[in-house]
Amino acid sequence: SLTAGVVAVQGDVEEHAAAIERAAKTHGHDVTVHEIRESGIVPDCDLLAMPGGESTTISRLLHSEGIAPEIVDHVAAGKPLLATCAGLIVASSDPNDDRVEELGLLDVTVERNAFGRQKDSFEAPLAVDGLADDEPYPAVFIRAPAIEDVGGGTGDGTVEVLASWDGRPVAVKQGPVVGTAFHPELTPDSRIHGLAFFENSDAGLPDIADPA
Ligand code: GLN
Repeated sequence: SLTAGVVAVQGDVEEHAAAIERAAKTHGHDVTVHEIRESGIVPDCDLLAMPGGESTTISRLLHSEGIAPEIVDHVAAGKPLLATCAGLIVASSDPNDDRVEELGLLDVTVERNAFGRQKDSFEAPLAVDGLADDEPYPAVFIRAPAIEDVGGGTGDGTVEVLASWDGRPVAVKQGPVVGTAFHPELTPDSRIHGLAFFENSDAGLPDIADPA
């Protein structure tokens, strides 16, 4: 049985926990999900999600609670992390905003709130590379960041763009880390969680579902 963590200092936590449970079931795993508000839990987690919310608040609390270095160690150990919306901003190497204390886990430059006021919230049918099937993914964007620049990668591998919207990358993968500008926890479709945790050959959690 797996242990999962959802960063819960701020943001939409319960929806991620439910999506992890659905994806784990699809891929043949039992999972126990912990909400992470303090240090000492991340080291026991096989997989992590870092939700949307408000990126300056999330990053500040991750550092003040001593959780930030644990997340860095988790990724350095090759364990999977799914970072969504504000989570993507915090995971980036350049949030383009001094108020965010980035973790540098994805070699990307992001622009906060990039999709404009008039489109603060929208849903888009997104073609995402590597999903279990070719159905577009119903991607919910809420004051979403865009990825403005994809770096050359770090020791954890190069950055792959998995999906773009409006000409800009909105889903990327680098080694065990998947980042999305949208909110994959807000739709019943848990294929992004499946991709990040159980179909990522760089992250080492097998798909052990019984063959149909
Ligand atoms: N606009 C938020 C930020 O920049 C992110 C929005 C979200 O996570 N839904 O922190």
